[in-house]
Amino acid sequence: MTLSPVFINFTYIISAILFIYGLKMLGHPDTARRGNLLSAIGMFIAIVVTLFAQEIIRFEYIIGAMLAGAIIGALAARLVAMTSMPEMVALFNGSGGAASLLVGWAVLYDELLPSAGSAADGVLGTAGLAAGASTFTLITVILSILIGGVTASGSVIAYAKLAEKMTSAAIVFSGQRIVNSLILLGIVVSAVMFTMDPAIGSTWFWVLLGLSLLLGVMAVIPIGGADMPVVISLLNSYSGLAACAAGFAIENNLLIVAGSTVGAAGIILTNIMCKAMNRSLANVLFSGFGAVKQASKVEGEVKPINVDDAYLILESASSVVFVPGYGMAVAQAQHVVRELGELLEKNGCEVNFAIHPVAGRMPGHMNVLLAEANVPYEQLVEMDDINPRLPNTDVAIVIGANDVVNPAAREDENSPIYGMPIINVDHARTVFVLKRSMGSGFSGVDNPLFFGENTRMLFGDAKQSISGLVAAFKS
Ligand code: NDP
Repeated sequence: MTLSPVFINFTYIISAILFIYGLKMLGHPDTARRGNLLSAIGMFIAIVVTLFAQEIIRFEYIIGAMLAGAIIGALAARLVAMTSMPEMVALFNGSGGAASLLVGWAVLYDELLPSAGSAADGVLGTAGLAAGASTFTLITVILSILIGGVTASGSVIAYAKLAEKMTSAAIVFSGQRIVNSLILLGIVVSAVMFTMDPAIGSTWFWVLLGLSLLLGVMAVIPIGGADMPVVISLLNSYSGLAACAAGFAIENNLLIVAGSTVGAAGIILTNIMCKAMNRSLANVLFSGFGAVKQASKVEGEVKPINVDDAYLILESASSVVFVPGYGMAVAQAQHVVRELGELLEKNGCEVNFAIHPVAGRMPGHMNVLLAEANVPYEQLVEMDDINPRLPNTDVAIVIGANDVVNPAAREDENSPIYGMPIINVDHARTVFVLKRSMGSGFSGVDNPLFFGENTRMLFGDAKQSISGLVAAFKS
């Protein structure tokens, strides 16, 4: 079947509208599922039309790849624990980058260079572009290989850091900026040399590919600790830019639109994450998290509390703010937390949930968990709105959050997280901190909150502690 270019572009416009509208709907929990579905329909239309537009005559490899992808996706959705989602997102970003790299590479060998696929004929190394191939397309191919390579290897490092397969701290060494500058210079030189004299088997191509992968690794290793949210959203943006470049390379308008949408969304998210850390992007990328700082030593008396005593305080509270963090995801406590919230409300208490933008291990992590447990969206309050209300709050219940409630970020100029806005739970009349030990959070920074005059530590798994409170309210 031959489709007319007008029809193809018309369906691409429909798909693009569905993507953008779907993306807009993702901005609110009530419409997010429909938004996702809408974008998926857009992608389905785009894939079907593209397959027919390319007049593909053998579908078996494509169907095989789609089936393999669908099985891997379905298994990942079923089997990957909620706490491992961030690592999975990092790998997905990397896959997007790798796909763009491979698309660029394929276009290069299949369309741009003469004697493509004829290495066996001994014509390897024929220089110059094939007849009809443009330098512009060659540049977009180089960009998709470069950005795709950086995204792919950078995402693997981000995955390893999040999954704790390597240290999550920033890796810095003297002369790092010089090394990175030299890598960048090498990329520019090899890209220019390859553009001037493109050939299959060109050494400059391999240098470009190798340095792009190396740059991804070098760009992500100095980012660590509490700065990781920025790198995740930045890699997300890179994967979009790589797809956009691949779209130019294969002259596919929809891939250009989809790639630039992902790129723009990723940059907006990166900006939000930087604001949440109160850092500039340059500072996050180049300074190395907490590399030269040593937080002041935290000392004081820890005051543990048990479930029964915590119940008595909650029973008479008229306002409670829950502050969820990564530990709530680990404990999978969101459903019992919602139940406790309902019981408190029945008891005449005002209940809210304070959401820090970088709580958990991926942007929106807490919103996803609380939405899954059907916590009413109106009860979710952003950091800037809850902070002025905390001095009038009877009890702040910190559920497996640590860095995002660490007063050192506000008070200790020597702390690596100094300047990061936090939820000021220490300003509430009483604070319950639910965690298993005195251990630190993702940033590895000690938390003076645990020694606060008004803090009570409810040690144990968050789900068990909250379940105990629920049982006490019910009995
Ligand atoms: P933290 O990582 O600071 O702290 C989590 C706490 O949860 C730990 O101190 C741990 O203490 C506790 N915990 C773990 N398991 C349980 C359990 N079963 N029951 C009770 N408590 C538990 O989390 P925050 O959410 O406060 O901060 C997020 C951090 O992660 C920030 O530093 C942020 O920059 C970083 N980050 C965020 C990303 C994002 O996009 N949101 C991405 C990557 C990193 P204990 O072991 O004693 O129980």
